[in-house]
This record gives sequence, C-alpha cells and structure tokens, in this order.
Amino acid sequence: MPDKLIYCEDCGACYLLTDLDQAPEYEYDPQTEQVTEQSADGSFLFQLRHRHHRIKELHMVKATVFCTKRLSEVNRTAYFMATDGLDSYIVKRSRQSAEEPFRYEVFRGSIDIGVLSVDILAEEIRRQMAHQLTDPPLPKASVELFLEITLELVRAVSDSGLEIFPQETSNPLIRWARLNDKIRFRLFERFLSNFPPEDCRRLRAFYEANEDFGDVMNILLKYRAIVRREPDETIMEVVSPSTEQTVVYSNALP
Ligand SMILES: [Zn+2]
Repeated sequence: MPDKLIYCEDCGACYLLTDLDQAPEYEYDPQTEQVTEQSADGSFLFQLRHRHHRIKELHMVKATVFCTKRLSEVNRTAYFMATDGLDSYIVKRSRQSAEEPFRYEVFRGSIDIGVLSVDILAEEIRRQMAHQLTDPPLPKASVELFLEITLELVRAVSDSGLEIFPQETSNPLIRWARLNDKIRFRLFERFLSNFPPEDCRRLRAFYEANEDFGDVMNILLKYRAIVRREPDETIMEVVSPSTEQTVVYSNALP
C-alpha cells in the first residue's frame, strides 16, 4: 500500500510515491489511461510537467481501505481515504489483471460505512455441540432454541453490543466479534427462562469455552461501504462482501 501520492487537481493525474527503498514509482495519466514506470527523479519530472498547476501531496489513511473482493484477488478494486492535512480525498485503485500495474484515481467525496449483516455460525455450533455435549447429548430442540435465542439477541444489539476482535480478515469489510460482558450476561439470563437449570449451566459453560477468537461462538459482522463523489453526492459504488461483487449504481465514472 502506498503511503503518499502527488495529485494534480487540474489534470487529474497522480504520481505514486512508494517507500523510497521500494522502487519503482508509477505515474497515471487519465487522458491516455497510461500508467508508466518512473525513474528515481520521476516525482521531480511530474512536478515539472504540472508546474503552475494545483499540486497536492496526499497521505493515505491506512485504516480506511475497502475492497470489492478478497485481498488475495488481483483484479479487486480498493478505495481508501487520503488527506493533504486539510481536505479529505478518496483514492480508487484498480487493475484488470496481475500483469497490469494499479491505476489510481483521486476525487473528492465520502465513504459511508454501515453494518450489512450480523450472524452466528449456526452449522459450526451444531457440530461443536454434538462433539462437546455428549453426556447426555443435548436434545436437538434445545440446540435449535439456543441458536434462535442467541441469534435474536445478537441481531437486536448489532455492533453496539459486540466486542470486535482486532485481528484482520481476508476482506476489510468482514470482522469477527463476540458479545460484550453486559450482553453476554443478558444472554445467560435468557437461558434461565428457557432451559432447565442443568441445561443452563451446560450451555453457559459451552458458550464460555467457545467465545475466543477463532471459536465457534464468534459473531460474523459484514459491512458495506457506500462511495460518494462530490459535489453532487453521486453514488459511485456500493462495496459489500456479501456477494464479493460490487454494484455500480450510476454512470458517474468518467
Ligand atoms: Zn496538471
């Protein structure tokens, strides 16, 4: 991920400054759609070519990267925020194939992030219960009631009742979480009014044994990002991991 780019507001051209030790650097010309590899003094040449133009140096905001596909897919499109210290910009990075260098497009706009879905791993939980709760096995109806109660509570509290794990995933719009202390307590209270005391104890023990990162009681959070372009707030793209695809809502792309 590049840290910095130089952007000419008049031409829309941008020049990517990678870590100085990690040449090469790339220049993108929106007129010809050409990306060219630059020599070490490329940034000087870029500034020379765009002298008397409005030039800005933009720094990437690393926490704001949203991809249309998995990080491992080469032809994904990524959006991230960048700033010149005063204003915020959106940088769109794309390429069609692994052979092509990335193209960068810079524009003013906003990225609006929201929760798309909250889920539990029902199938994995059933399997784990069959494996762990054997003496005696929990009746099927009780397993399904446990799943129903848990999912209902998780969806009702959404991300405000969750403790999101810091671990990154293969897609920046997917995160894992668990219930926070207050909501976990509320879940156990619901067990009390739905199960006999012995089942409550076993279910609570099962929950507590399986809530760390990577365990079956983890909650799957999916987000969607809406990318809007100024000045008319045109929606350029809605990025969501649910289908691993993007929906383009307008022809606003130049
Ligand atoms: Zn220029």
